[in-house]
Amino acid sequence: MKKEVDVAIIGAGSAGLYALSQVRKQTDNFLLINDGPYGTTCARVGCMPSKSLIRIAEYYHEREYFEKSGIKNSDKLSICMPDVLKRVRKHRDILVAGNIKNITRLGDKVLSGRAEFINANTLKVGEDEIVAKKIIIATGSTPVLDPKWEAFKEHILTTDELFEQEDLPATLGVLGLGVIGLELGQALSRLGIKITAVHSREFIGGLSDPKVNENMLGLCKKEFDIWIGGGRAVLTKVDDKIKISNSENEMLVDKVLVAIGRKPNLESLKLENLGITLDKKGMPDFDPQTMQIEDLPIYIAGDVNADKPLLHEAADEGRIAGYNVVKDQKKFKRKVPLAIVFSDPNIALIGKDYKEIKDDESVITCSYDFKQQGRAFLINKNAGLANLYVQKSDGKLLGAQIAAPGGEHLAHHLAWAMEQELTVYDMLQLPFYHPTLEEGLYTLLLTCTKAIGKKTTGIREVPYGHL
Ligand SMILES: Cc1cc2nc3c(=O)[nH]c(=O)nc-3n(C[C@H](O)[C@H](O)[C@H](O)COP(=O)(O)OP(=O)(O)OC[C@H]3O[C@@H](n4cnc5c(N)ncnc54)[C@H](O)[C@@H]3O)c2cc1C
Repeated sequence: MKKEVDVAIIGAGSAGLYALSQVRKQTDNFLLINDGPYGTTCARVGCMPSKSLIRIAEYYHEREYFEKSGIKNSDKLSICMPDVLKRVRKHRDILVAGNIKNITRLGDKVLSGRAEFINANTLKVGEDEIVAKKIIIATGSTPVLDPKWEAFKEHILTTDELFEQEDLPATLGVLGLGVIGLELGQALSRLGIKITAVHSREFIGGLSDPKVNENMLGLCKKEFDIWIGGGRAVLTKVDDKIKISNSENEMLVDKVLVAIGRKPNLESLKLENLGITLDKKGMPDFDPQTMQIEDLPIYIAGDVNADKPLLHEAADEGRIAGYNVVKDQKKFKRKVPLAIVFSDPNIALIGKDYKEIKDDESVITCSYDFKQQGRAFLINKNAGLANLYVQKSDGKLLGAQIAAPGGEHLAHHLAWAMEQELTVYDMLQLPFYHPTLEEGLYTLLLTCTKAIGKKTTGIREVPYGHL
C-alpha cells in the first residue's frame, strides 16, 4: 500500500499522542505508526506501575511506627508479593485500557509496524510506503542491557518485565541507582526483598550536589546494601543464582533488576538515509525550542531525543512538534527543568543544576536540614536536606536540589516560583500555613535573606493610606 498524508507520527507513546493532539486541530490527514504494544511506556511499564508499587511499599513501611504509636499487632502484617503485583497490574490495566480505547477510535489512521526512513518524506512500514509532508519521530527509549547477560536472561529483569512477574524472589541485585533503580530498589526493599544495589558512580538518583547526595546516600544505606565505588558490576551464573561482583564485593542473588539507563530508539529508523550528520550515538542535531531536525520536515520529541527523558517533557515536546508540523513554525520557551525521584525522602532537581552554579561567585547556596522540621517530626519523616541556589545580588531563585519529605510538592512550589522569576523575598510574602512541611522551605528562604544580608519581615508593605 502507498499512502500520502500531511503528517506521519512514528510512535504512539506519550510524546506521539501529545503531538497528535495538536495535529488533529488542523488536519484529519495523519497517520500514527506504532511498533509493539500500545498503551505508552508511562502507563504500561514506567511512571504509573512504578508509582503504584512504591505506594504499596510505603503503606507497609509505615508499620514500623505502629507499635510505638499504640497500634498493636503490626508484627502480624505480611506481604503477599503475588497480590502486590496483581494490584499494580490492575492499576496499570485501567490506565492502559483508557489509552488503547482512544487509539482504537482512530481506526485506519493507526498503522502497526516498525517505521524506517527511505528519505526525508518517505517511510517504509513493512510492505507499506508512507509519503508525508511532515514527520514526527517519537519512538521513545529502551532499557540498556549487556548482550553477555543473554545466557542467563531468566535471571535478568528490566522495568519491561518487572511488573509482569507473578512473584519476586527473596534476594535481588539492583544494577544502577539512578532514578529508576533508586525508586524501585528502595520500594522492593521495603516490601521485604533483600536488595543489594551496585552503583558505579558517586551520585545517586540523578543528584549532582555533593551535600544532598551524601545525606540521601546515608539514609538509603540504612535501608539496604549499597556498593558504591567498586566499579561496574560483573554478573556470572553460579548454579541457580547470579553472582554480582566488582573490585570490592561479591554476592549471590536470585535475580537482578537492571537499571543502568535507557537508550533512545533510533537504530531501527535508518536515519542514515536522511543524508544528515549524526553524532556518535546516532543522534541528529535538533532545536529543543522547535523540535525540528536541522531544516528537514522532520521533528523529534520525547525520550528518543535523550534531552530530558521525563513524561512532562515528552508531553511538551510532543505539543511543540505537533504545533510546528501543522502551523507556522514557532520557537517555544522551555519550562524550568523539574525532575522528581519518588524515593523516600523524595529527591527533586529544579532549575539550574549544581554543576552550573558551583563555581559562580554571583550565586549562593543555602541549606535546610529537615531533621529540625516540626511537621516532618510528627509524621516520622524528619530527615533530608534541601539546597537552594540563589542570585546574591537580588535573591532570585535559580535552582535547587533537595532530598526531603514531601520533596515532590516543595519542588513544584520552587519550580513555579523560578518560572515566574521570583526572588526569595517574593516567595516569603506568599502565605504559608502551620504546621506544614513547607515551613521548612520558609526557613530556608529566610536563611537566604540572611546570607544575602538584606532581611525582610516577610509581609508585603502597603503604602500608608491604602490599608
Ligand atoms: C520505570 C520507569 C519509571 C518512570 N517514572 C517516571 C516518572 O515518575 N515521571 C516521569 O516524568 N517520567 C517517568 N518515566 C519516564 C517516562 O515514562 C518517559 O519519559 C515517557 O514515557 C517517554 O514517552 P515517549 O512518548 O517518548 O516514549 P514511549 O511512550 O516509549 O513511546 C514510544 C513508542 O514508539 C514505538 N516505536 C519505537 N520504535 C518505533 C519504530 N521504529 N516505528 C514505530 N514505532 C516505534 C514504541 O514501541 C512505543 O510504543 C519513567 C520511565 C520508566 C521506565
